[in-house]
Amino acid sequence: MINIEALVCCPACRADLRMPIDVKERLFCSSDGCIYSQRGFPRLDGRPVLIDFRESILLEGDLLARAGKSFMRRDDMRTDLSTRVRKKLLGRNLTAMRNAESMIAAMKKVTSRPKLLIIGGGAIGSGIEQIYSDPELEILATDIYVSPLTQILADGHQLPFKAKSFEGVWIQAVLEHVLDPKKVVDEIWRVLKQGGVVYADTPFMQQVHEGAYDFTRFTLSGHRWLFRSFEHLDSGAVGGPGTALIWSVQYLVRAVFGSQKLAKVAAYSCFWLRYLDRIGKKQQIEDAACGVFFLGTRSDHTLRPSDIVEYYQRRGAAI
Ligand SMILES: [Zn+2]
Repeated sequence: MINIEALVCCPACRADLRMPIDVKERLFCSSDGCIYSQRGFPRLDGRPVLIDFRESILLEGDLLARAGKSFMRRDDMRTDLSTRVRKKLLGRNLTAMRNAESMIAAMKKVTSRPKLLIIGGGAIGSGIEQIYSDPELEILATDIYVSPLTQILADGHQLPFKAKSFEGVWIQAVLEHVLDPKKVVDEIWRVLKQGGVVYADTPFMQQVHEGAYDFTRFTLSGHRWLFRSFEHLDSGAVGGPGTALIWSVQYLVRAVFGSQKLAKVAAYSCFWLRYLDRIGKKQQIEDAACGVFFLGTRSDHTLRPSDIVEYYQRRGAAI
């Protein structure tokens, strides 16, 4: 079990929280000058809500009124029939599975019992089951809603953790849902230990999902620049042009006929297109990928603007 008390801090001023943390009570900041030394942080279903709502897209009243539940239905444990059908027809996320393995190996180079922060960990990410089954990993999952997996409710723009707390941070299909991705990545850098590893995968060719909470897409180069304060271990496409085309068909049918159900049937009938995902030159697949990933380690050096042009050109030359 991960020792949460040793890691948390006030999301507003980063001072320690008043200890010991009582499992039933509100949590308070230990700094007298901080508004949260008086106001404190609430709990939802026993989980601390360590969010400075003055600086967040989330509204405290809304979240408390929903008892912390997500605004939309989610299959947190990936056991719903629709998730299983989708997995069968549209395939597993093999890239994430391979990257989870690389991530675990890289973290274990730092220490034998690595602490891993999963941002957006309210639901099990696609292809990362092995992360949850590794007994040597100490996992801390945050999200903006209550689920069986969420341990702390937190906003990625203001992580409520002390500097250099974790050997790894996993952030999968989250950065498109935050208003300021650079700020979130700076927070990841702050909470990672020296040599700590980050894995991010983020949509590129994907339509709007989760309605009002979808803001940004990244090319492979844009994503690399976002993580410019990290040393590159690996990067590439997540899902290729075939899957991107399936999604386009789905959203075309949704727009023309106004039916989610019909849109899903149309998408499933095109499932064979995913077999085209890996055919072609690497760079051309990356130029049309559904999403992109970056795996890297926290660095004291930052890429120069001219490095990013070379990064793209090198990938072309590597084919
Ligand atoms: Zn404070």
